[in-house]
Amino acid sequence: MTHRELFVTTALPYANGPLHIGHVMEYIQADIWVRYQRLRGATVHFVGADDAHGAPIMIAAEKAGKTPRQYVAEIAASRRQYLDGFFLSFDHWHSTDSPENTELSQEIYRRLRARELIATRTIEQFYDPVKGMFLPDRYIRGECPRCGAADQYGDSCEVCGAVYAPTELKHPRSALSGATPEVRASEHHFFRLSDSRCREFLRGWIQGGRLQPEVANKAREWLDGEQELADWDISRDAPYFGIPIPDAPGKYFYVWLDAPIGYLASLKAYCARRQLDFEAVLRNPRTEQIHFIGKDIIYFHTLFWPAMLEFAGPPFKVPDRVNVHGFITVSGEKMSKSRGTGIDPLRYLALGMNPEWLRYYIAAKLNAHVEDVDFNPDDFLQRVNSDLIGKYVNIASRAATFLTRHFDGRTTNLQNAADRLPPVLRQQPDTLGQEIAQAYEDREFGKAIRIAMAYADEVNTYFDAAKPWELAKKLGQGSAGEDARRLQEICSVTLRGFQYLTLWLKPVLPRLAEDAESFLGCGPMRWESSLPPLERIAPYRHLMARVEETQIDALFTPPALAGSGAALTTVTPTKEMKVSSPENSPAPAPANGTAAPQPAAPAPVSIDDFGKIELRIARIVNAEPVEGAEKLLRLTVDIGEARPRNVFAGIKSAYQPEQLIGKLTVVVANLAPRKMKFGISEAMVLAASHEDQKANPGLFLLEPHAGAQPGMRVR
Ligand SMILES: [Zn+2]
Repeated sequence: MTHRELFVTTALPYANGPLHIGHVMEYIQADIWVRYQRLRGATVHFVGADDAHGAPIMIAAEKAGKTPRQYVAEIAASRRQYLDGFFLSFDHWHSTDSPENTELSQEIYRRLRARELIATRTIEQFYDPVKGMFLPDRYIRGECPRCGAADQYGDSCEVCGAVYAPTELKHPRSALSGATPEVRASEHHFFRLSDSRCREFLRGWIQGGRLQPEVANKAREWLDGEQELADWDISRDAPYFGIPIPDAPGKYFYVWLDAPIGYLASLKAYCARRQLDFEAVLRNPRTEQIHFIGKDIIYFHTLFWPAMLEFAGPPFKVPDRVNVHGFITVSGEKMSKSRGTGIDPLRYLALGMNPEWLRYYIAAKLNAHVEDVDFNPDDFLQRVNSDLIGKYVNIASRAATFLTRHFDGRTTNLQNAADRLPPVLRQQPDTLGQEIAQAYEDREFGKAIRIAMAYADEVNTYFDAAKPWELAKKLGQGSAGEDARRLQEICSVTLRGFQYLTLWLKPVLPRLAEDAESFLGCGPMRWESSLPPLERIAPYRHLMARVEETQIDALFTPPALAGSGAALTTVTPTKEMKVSSPENSPAPAPANGTAAPQPAAPAPVSIDDFGKIELRIARIVNAEPVEGAEKLLRLTVDIGEARPRNVFAGIKSAYQPEQLIGKLTVVVANLAPRKMKFGISEAMVLAASHEDQKANPGLFLLEPHAGAQPGMRVR
């Protein structure tokens, strides 16, 4: 196979806020593909960058009392924790607000102008006389010209769905200053996408197998539809945070022009760092330029971007692939920041949830089509605990135990035992390995995972049918010879299967693979080389913990509310026993071997701080299990209000529901309601537990002395 050189990018996140789960999904998709290519020996330049220009950033920075540059620098500094946290192996992360991008954007513009693909035209736009600037459509509000709905955006009505020009709005006003905007004329620069040269070039480019079929169809519709391709307005007037247009004082490139050029700027900065020749990398005919993007930005990446690159000329080259993915939904709902149904990636990490759980889950659900991926909490729990851990990770511990105990970790030389090998190791792994390789290449990650998991099933079936524990029992009773040979061989065959699986899952689970390789004693595995033989394994160390349901619940609890739960530990009454919310217990140690920091002794609080917590006596009027929840009971509690409250409590391990009905207890009544997977929890019950709940799992609800009444304040 010829050596591949790959220049791979992900879409640039806008630098006006934190990354969300959609960004992380795209980076995981690209990272799995890139890691697979690296395992096959390809040279990969995998780069990303922040999209740092434009009016929204300028306006947000002003609101924050910062310069745009300070503002985006702070955002940039926050990116590292996502990239490291989810094992995203970018070679370089850059910014579109950089000398490289300025130079490249101006250069590409000059070349397009030289080819007469830039036109200027005077357009009329709303101007805010108070702010002294032209207003982007989204900063103009007014009444819908069609239905008259108040307070609509400058480009479309959320009530009747009408689309219009901002100048058609009735009673328009600036969302920035409230002033009535004036219509003013200004000269704008356009990229002439309507030029017949662009159309001709794009027709060929779209047909070149560079796009998924559904994406190529979409692009063809735009290209050959009833409407001519419109020229693209690429300029904005000062004040604007962006790159100045050469020979056009007071004009800046529209952020969307310099954003994709940021891919090249990032590559250029990376090449400088690595002492590579940027132009030589691009000019190399073997270099493949590959973009991963979401379905919302197809137009830019299949029309403007390839046309800009084509007519800018060498060393710039047109994309070889544009890989488009769908959105991520949560339990079938599109994420919405305002409703808080999204998954915050940093909260995921802060809860000690293993990044490889998410990598595995996303991989299992991804294919090569532009389909949305749904994060379903139950499905996540199931796939991670039953498939990833139950089928794959557990194979290692099952087989390793016998080898370590009876053979000092030494494995059978399977080359010598080739004629006795079971079907699970004969030929099959090579065939499966090729199918999985093809699936990775085609971004059919779900298929790769399915093949691997079916093989894991076979390995487990082989192990169970061979009943090594019976042989081990005989060995314990003094048997040796053939039984010992058999036992060692069964475990060696099983671990060989585990070794194959580890290689196959390595693009998805890089950290786990590294740990498994050191446990197997086989060194770092590559895709091309034949699998290194096993000789002696290290004693088994826990490779991965299971997902706890409490972690999933906590993931969907807005951080502000989770924080109020944490504050409760400050009322710890004694050293040994602490009052905690069992439904909101601290996350277990991260699975990657680093121990969670010991909880610090709570700092003293003032009586005023304590007084902020409204503790009340509650009567449990009903208690019942929650379908689908291992640890929760649903309690209905009366705290002297007109309506009883609904409370989810993680106390199922300690109480039968009927034991609790009619009992009095103590609840935190002013905890903000928490939206959980199963409904809303409107208070929190208090229970005592040991510091080390693993060793001493008991839970004890508080109960007041006789005479207390529901609703009484506890202080
Ligand atoms: Zn309307």
